[in-house]
Amino acid sequence: MAARLLERNDHVGHPGNALLHLNVVSDELLHAMPFSPLGETDVRFECWCSRLGVVSALATLPRGEVESLTSAGEVLEIRCDYCTTEYHVAPAELRGLLDES
Ligand SMILES: [Zn+2]
Repeated sequence: MAARLLERNDHVGHPGNALLHLNVVSDELLHAMPFSPLGETDVRFECWCSRLGVVSALATLPRGEVESLTSAGEVLEIRCDYCTTEYHVAPAELRGLLDES
């Protein structure tokens, strides 16, 4: 994904143009909300992962898989491959997913 972002920057050409473009996009997206730009020159990859996203992904695993993950009774440590953020999911929470399905 990072490579794809770089590729897109190449198409835009000058980095200044890319920045201007990003500002236009964020103005467009956030025009109804108050916001403050965090940095105007620091355009970087930002991961969109979240704890909810991690749990939702676990919820798509086959039931047997979830059962074997929780059988040890240990808190699962799941690390995002992109931003290396670690999420801790308690076995009880995973079993809750089993109950829902
Ligand atoms: Zn992430």
